[in-house]
Amino acid sequence: MAQDDKFKKLVSHCKEYGFIFQSSEVYDGLAAVYDYGPYGSELKNNIKQYWWKSMVQMHENIVGIDAAIFMHPKTWKASGHVDAFNDPMIDNKQSNKRYRADVLIENYMDKIEAKINKEITKAKKRFGDAFDEKEFRSTNGRVLENVAKHKAIADRLAKAMTDENMAELKTMIEEFGIACEVSGSKEWTDVRQFNLMFNTQLGNIAGEEGKLYLRPETAQGIFVNFLNVQKTSRQKLPFGIAQIGKAFRNEIVARQFIFRMREFEQMEMQFFVQPNTEMKWYEYWKEKRMAWHEAIGSPAEKLRWHDHDNLAHYANAAVDIQFEFPFGFKELEGIHSRTDFDLTQHQELSGRKIQYFDPETKENYVPFVVETSIGVDRMFLAIMSNALQEETVPDADGKDATRIVLKLHPSIAPVKCAVLPLVKNKPELVEKARKVFDRLKIDFNCQYDEKDAIGRRYRRQDAIGTPFCVTIDFDSLEDDSVTIRERDTLQQKRVKIEEVAGIVSQGISMSELFA
Ligand code: ATP
Repeated sequence: MAQDDKFKKLVSHCKEYGFIFQSSEVYDGLAAVYDYGPYGSELKNNIKQYWWKSMVQMHENIVGIDAAIFMHPKTWKASGHVDAFNDPMIDNKQSNKRYRADVLIENYMDKIEAKINKEITKAKKRFGDAFDEKEFRSTNGRVLENVAKHKAIADRLAKAMTDENMAELKTMIEEFGIACEVSGSKEWTDVRQFNLMFNTQLGNIAGEEGKLYLRPETAQGIFVNFLNVQKTSRQKLPFGIAQIGKAFRNEIVARQFIFRMREFEQMEMQFFVQPNTEMKWYEYWKEKRMAWHEAIGSPAEKLRWHDHDNLAHYANAAVDIQFEFPFGFKELEGIHSRTDFDLTQHQELSGRKIQYFDPETKENYVPFVVETSIGVDRMFLAIMSNALQEETVPDADGKDATRIVLKLHPSIAPVKCAVLPLVKNKPELVEKARKVFDRLKIDFNCQYDEKDAIGRRYRRQDAIGTPFCVTIDFDSLEDDSVTIRERDTLQQKRVKIEEVAGIVSQGISMSELFA
């Protein structure tokens, strides 16, 4: 299936099955804002739980907080967001469509990368098993030429972004002949910087004094609370503070569903370390975070590293974990070495000492920070795009049938177990099934369903990723046994009712993820 079709199917599946709705749909929607429906909110909560458990509860030296969205306006002056949290925007004169100038250039670079990959795929086919990709990459003329071209553009883009050279961005767009995807026109306005922070007004205080920002990242709530948390949790360096919460960015263009939203959620952890030890921890967290993604079922070949070409004003090293979304490899998570920039800045602007007393060296200093930062919604999209599959399976008569199945890791599935009486018009069956359901719902998010033929009910559960279905039939009335069906293997086993909770519990446990 073409990637484009796959993405369209994913978006419509999310809507049809109550995972995600466009915000304010009755008013034709609000761009780049989405609401999570009944199954979506369950799945999202489970993703957050997986992160929280593995980052906070599995680390004695990481504690969690829940800071407010609003912060003192000076916070954002100190962090550099007021002056530097900008994206370069450009409009096409003919279509009036707005773009991010750097993204236009990145898309152009993606096309060069696609040419390289096409060349490699062709050669792979031609040479079969004898194909040596490394050798081919280092000797094929066309590949070498495109790799060099790609790198030259990446370097030029990085320099222009670091220097905030808007004229150079426009020159590049014109030089590469980049056209508007709507009008096909190459007539562009100048490139202007656009600040991504939303703001609002505090109480009745007019002007700059009362200007409040909706936080564009959760990290600053952690920085300003550094000493409060360190002292009350009696932590010693190195230690981390984690939080999950909403962040807001007035993105210039927001397409690709929940990949780029104006209101989204982040899971961030700031790890405070002794100065000059930050690179060791940076490597440590890189490895840990990649393992976290693989444990939940993201295939290794869909994940890759991407070093930042232009570092943010606060970082001395930064890398992204990219995921292969249906629209290509894009950033899923960032791991950044933020130096002592933020704490030093808050110290200066607040006039308060924000330092750590090291009981071993007997010195006071500002710690360095390594952060891991991931968007909940992007993780949701990565998980959904990986899990949604179309399979050919035998139907009740043994013929081939297509089923749509959401192969989520059972521990994060929205519904863990569905309880299904074989038919609904036999009160004894319904009563028995209700009893099983009432027992199981104490431990798991379960669903009772008696409508339609059993095959259709199975398909409905497959489509929302339910790992277990329990069917109560006439034999159940005699022998207190039920049929338990597994989503992935389609295996059906006869078990005693009292065994069901144990089987489900073992099948959906998160424990193996942390082993
Ligand atoms: P991008 O380059 O895609 O704009 P970024 O580098 O600005 O992302 P960070 O500031 O590093 O992103 O934010 C950390 C994480 O927050 C990202 O890896 C991503 O998962 C998530 N995130 C950032 N912006 C958005 C957004 N507009 N919508 C959804 N998630 C986002």
